Amino acid sequence: MPKLESLAFDNSFARLPEAYYSRVCPTPVPDPYLVCYSPEALALLDLDASEMKRPELIEALAGNQLLPGMDAVAALYAGHQFGHFVPQLGDGRAILLGEVKNAADQGWEIQLKGAGRTPYSRGGDGRAVLRSSIREFLCSEAMHALGIPTTRALAIVGSDRPVYREDQETAALVTRLAPSFVRFGSFEVFYYRNQIEPIRQLADYVIARHYPELLALADSYPEFLRQVARSTAELIAHWQAVGFSHGVMNTDNMSILGLTLDYGPFGFLDAFDPGYVCNHSDTGGRYAFDQQPDVAAWNLTKLAQTLVPLMSVEAASQAISEYPQLFGRAYLERMAAKFGLPPGSETATLVMDALQLLAQNHVDYTIFLRRLCNFDSGENAPNTLRDLFLDRAAFDAWAARYAAALRQQGSVDTERAAAMRRVNPKYILRNHLAEIAIRRAADDRDYSEVNRLHALLARPFDEQPEYEAYAAEPPDWARKIEVSCSS
Ligand code: AMP
Ligand code: MG
Repeated sequence: MPKLESLAFDNSFARLPEAYYSRVCPTPVPDPYLVCYSPEALALLDLDASEMKRPELIEALAGNQLLPGMDAVAALYAGHQFGHFVPQLGDGRAILLGEVKNAADQGWEIQLKGAGRTPYSRGGDGRAVLRSSIREFLCSEAMHALGIPTTRALAIVGSDRPVYREDQETAALVTRLAPSFVRFGSFEVFYYRNQIEPIRQLADYVIARHYPELLALADSYPEFLRQVARSTAELIAHWQAVGFSHGVMNTDNMSILGLTLDYGPFGFLDAFDPGYVCNHSDTGGRYAFDQQPDVAAWNLTKLAQTLVPLMSVEAASQAISEYPQLFGRAYLERMAAKFGLPPGSETATLVMDALQLLAQNHVDYTIFLRRLCNFDSGENAPNTLRDLFLDRAAFDAWAARYAAALRQQGSVDTERAAAMRRVNPKYILRNHLAEIAIRRAADDRDYSEVNRLHALLARPFDEQPEYEAYAAEPPDWARKIEVSCSS
């Protein structure tokens, strides 16, 4: 395994013209310490776990020292925030250190979030607090383990440097990895400045690196947009199927690669509630759970509009027109697998009726699906499942239809159960679990719970009986947890 010294930096983004970023160095923090790291993410850089013990690496991940070959920049972007266009945003607290090419010839950009002020910080301090860094780190790696496209998180490094939010907190940096951090907003910024060439060059850059198969086409831009619509549809289908609510689906938080990006006030559903709004600041519910598919469609229209200078209006609208069907199909496929049935209109009806029952009975989404894995198609539904419902008669009627559908398919219980357990996680990052880990870390400097959660959520589909309590419904006090954009 290579050492830090042999990391091969490529830095393709920093080789683009300066229109796309500002060169800026991270601002050092005093006495950085490692809170948690992801061995899996470290392996993406071909680094051995022993490298994590080296002070040079901790200093680099604290933004105190650049490694040879790094070329630090903050990216420029704009974005539609809660429906309103903001002409200039940009990495206000994130700094891209460089891009590493690993042995498998994959490029991984290394970005520090919370690395100090940049030319795009506006009024902000360029910092991130330990609390939000723990949430982003844990959720990025948990999403990956769930099979959901996401930016990765390599490590959290903390410092006692004070950071002022509602209260005084302390600083932390999350090291994020992604093939690219380019967002819809990276294109939008030039459209609203009436600068066409930078849009074209950025599209060429993204196509060459991430959609090289399109280079052979006479006109690759419409197909590029179609691919973005496709990967976005896949991503949102994943979110809806697992019960993930992003919280701030502004166009500056939409990845051009269809990755989950910028973890702020996200939340996983506990009880199934289609109108769930995880962001305490989102008083209008713009980004409610059940709005996400439509919001993504709206965001795609903003991207399409931005790319119109590269193609005709018809080609642009045609390219994103498939999104609703693509999303619908991807969502039905995921839900059908979660219910152990083939995708089709009958399954769709059964699934929708189940979701309605879950909502009416305030049933925990994840627990319901996990218990559904044990459904016996020849007998009555297991009591552990039935007990989740207040309206037993309504549940029994649904269960009878479900059993009939399974029998009609000739579904074999043991086989179906095994397959369903691979798509219905037992463990998700519930808010209260993150909260407990954050309190221990922030109040007692005890990072064991962060590490425990990270390890637990790396295997979300495994039983892990010693952690049964982590699969339970949230305790009453969890109702009071409020997450907002403040981070
Ligand atoms: P977010 O809601 O985290 O996606 O951030 C929206 C915009 O605000 C981005 O341009 C961020 O870089 C910027 N931002 C958020 N927090 C800070 C901060 N503490 N300092 C500087 N910029 C920030
Ligand atoms: Mg953001």
